[in-house]
Amino acid sequence: MSESKTPMYIDPHIHMFSRTTDDYQAMREAGVVAVIEPAFWIGQPRTTSGAFLDYFSTLIGWERFRASQFGIRHYCTMGLNSKEANNESLAEQVLEMLPRFLGKEGVVAVGEIGFDEITAAEEKAFRAQLEMAKEWDMPVMIHTPHRDKNRGTSRSMDVCEEHGINPSKVVIDHNNEETCKEVLDRGFWCAFTIYPKTKMGNMRMVEIVKKYGSEHIIVDSSADWGMSDALAVPKTANLMLENGISRSDVELTCYRNALTAYGQSGQIRESDWLNPSQVDRTQLFEGNSILRGQSAAKIIE
Ligand SMILES: [Zn+2]
Repeated sequence: MSESKTPMYIDPHIHMFSRTTDDYQAMREAGVVAVIEPAFWIGQPRTTSGAFLDYFSTLIGWERFRASQFGIRHYCTMGLNSKEANNESLAEQVLEMLPRFLGKEGVVAVGEIGFDEITAAEEKAFRAQLEMAKEWDMPVMIHTPHRDKNRGTSRSMDVCEEHGINPSKVVIDHNNEETCKEVLDRGFWCAFTIYPKTKMGNMRMVEIVKKYGSEHIIVDSSADWGMSDALAVPKTANLMLENGISRSDVELTCYRNALTAYGQSGQIRESDWLNPSQVDRTQLFEGNSILRGQSAAKIIE
């Protein structure tokens, strides 16, 4: 970032499935060059494994195409989220289906997995997926629970260690001031979600980087169907710079650390977006374009 004219950012946790083309446009203008979209809970429970099959296919298909139409590279993680792990018979079917998707192009981790209510069923699915990550030699993205945050975070790391997973391959997400130190001390990647008003406010993130530095710290938006901000990463980067955080620390926390962590998959590399080709909106994905009667003008990045 420090060497190029326009800053480059990665949002390593955002659910574009639930966002609009306006978001894509604004993100690209603000310098977001790549996004990682974790498979997640879509707001209401799915009732069949086919719903997961279609959703996973969307993440590696249509959504990736949509991002490309705005000059953004799209990657994803595949996993059974903790909430739906509680439907055990469905969970079993989804876990059976997952390996089919782990080896697909642009899949950079197993995730987001972990705990929601910290139930036995959640733990079972969590452990099964850690074994898959081991087998496929992939990074892991961990969702930590919103309630009982401290216990859930410690427990998530314990479980990873019990499976012999190297902490350097695991991103623990949704941290706060209380969980941060332990996550860093234990050698895991420590990600922070910037939600407007709830979770991490922007200034709180500035204070955390001032206190802990930039090593192993990752900023993301987790923007989804709820009140969230698809521009949280570039906005926080700007706020950090305004508050005296160095460009190199901003580059690490808002770009390079995510690349290093998920780059261990071999599925995301900087050359993917340096020297981008022109966006061609006449392109189709299985016969569909993002256009709605507009002219198919090319945009030049
Ligand atoms: Zn998420």
